[in-house]
Amino acid sequence: MNHPRIAIIGGGVAGMALLKGLHDRGVDARVYERASVDDRRGFGFLLLENGLRALRTLGVSCDPREFGRCIERVLFCTTSGEVLIDKAVSGAVAVGRAELLGVIGEGLPASKVHTGHCFHGMRWIDEEACYAEFELQAPVHANAFVGADGLHSRCRGSMQAACDPRPGRVREIVSAVELPSLAKALGSTFTKFMAPRGGLAVGLVPGIGGRVIWFVQYDSERFATPEADQVCDFFEEHLAEFPAIVQAAIVATNPSTPHVWRTVDMDPPESLVRGNLALIGDAAHPLLPFTSQGANCALEDAAMLAESLAACDSDADLRLAMRAYDLARRPVAQRFVDAGREIASQFLQPVSDRISLPLVNR
Ligand SMILES: Cc1cc2nc3c(=O)[nH]c(=O)nc-3n(C[C@H](O)[C@H](O)[C@H](O)COP(=O)(O)OP(=O)(O)OC[C@H]3O[C@@H](n4cnc5c(N)ncnc54)[C@H](O)[C@@H]3O)c2cc1C
Repeated sequence: MNHPRIAIIGGGVAGMALLKGLHDRGVDARVYERASVDDRRGFGFLLLENGLRALRTLGVSCDPREFGRCIERVLFCTTSGEVLIDKAVSGAVAVGRAELLGVIGEGLPASKVHTGHCFHGMRWIDEEACYAEFELQAPVHANAFVGADGLHSRCRGSMQAACDPRPGRVREIVSAVELPSLAKALGSTFTKFMAPRGGLAVGLVPGIGGRVIWFVQYDSERFATPEADQVCDFFEEHLAEFPAIVQAAIVATNPSTPHVWRTVDMDPPESLVRGNLALIGDAAHPLLPFTSQGANCALEDAAMLAESLAACDSDADLRLAMRAYDLARRPVAQRFVDAGREIASQFLQPVSDRISLPLVNR
């Protein structure tokens, strides 16, 4: 089989967005994804202005407002109803992960996405990534590689870049529920309730139809992280003080759906690029949950890299474009990491009215 010009490892939001951006610009790129089928699980994201802009750059023609829900207000209260933040926002859209992947993938030939490819490691000769090795599949050669393999990226590991991933202290349990009465009550408001002593909060985000995405953020040093089959006990034990609309969401949720996110706290590696391998999305910069930037920043990475790689004629140009990408994107990622840490440290303190808005834009 002839080899692609660009091989993208990982077919999540970042990898599929890059594939879209490159394919539409006439570049032979292919995705190699670990999952054996197109994996559309997951709940959803808040797309912010930078993510929406990136989608347009990538050529996604469908306006996210057509398949998502505009968020026009952010309301943060204590569990007893004291208002901490009540602010109008613009340019935020709540979208489902499946719907977002659906519009990104529209028009892409199925032959460009190779599922069942679990990346194992990169074969290097000097500073040149020659081919990618997979657990059960033949190696893949390419002119350049992009690691979009998420939080626990093996591509990042294969770069041997100095980085220090640590478990994040604040973790999240995320779920979604079909509950039209609650979605109606929320309207277009992202609502969050915070325990006055800090370190525990529940957020409710209205989605399309009667869907509500909800999440619990907690200090894992004060509250033991539950196993998947114990999340209901966690809710019962720790969320009793939360208001009726939170209880309504919990009661109506299928107990097998909540997902515990074990967050990772790390600075981006000293470089997002080694030779002809670049990292994008969570592989490049795991972000803490508070900034709502995970998907947005991943889309921005993909948009920038797609534009610059598509303009390259030679392998030397590809390397230069990747180097320019690193110089432009690493400081941005670092700012989001720092913003996440700052909000996380506020979150661990008793609540005050000086908390930051959790939607960090540039
Ligand atoms: C199934 C799933 C559901 C999610 N749901 C939510 C959600 O509801 N809300 C939210 O805020 N965030 C969610 N996330 C995380 C979110 O998508 C990312 O934080 C963000 O969008 C950045 O995307 P990414 O493409 O960099 O990472 P990811 O979306 O994590 O994508 C990484 C991709 O790489 C693949 N991969 C990993 N290792 C390998 C390997 N060795 N070889 C080949 N492929 C590999 C994974 O299967 C995955 O498809 C989810 C991630 C996944 C994988």
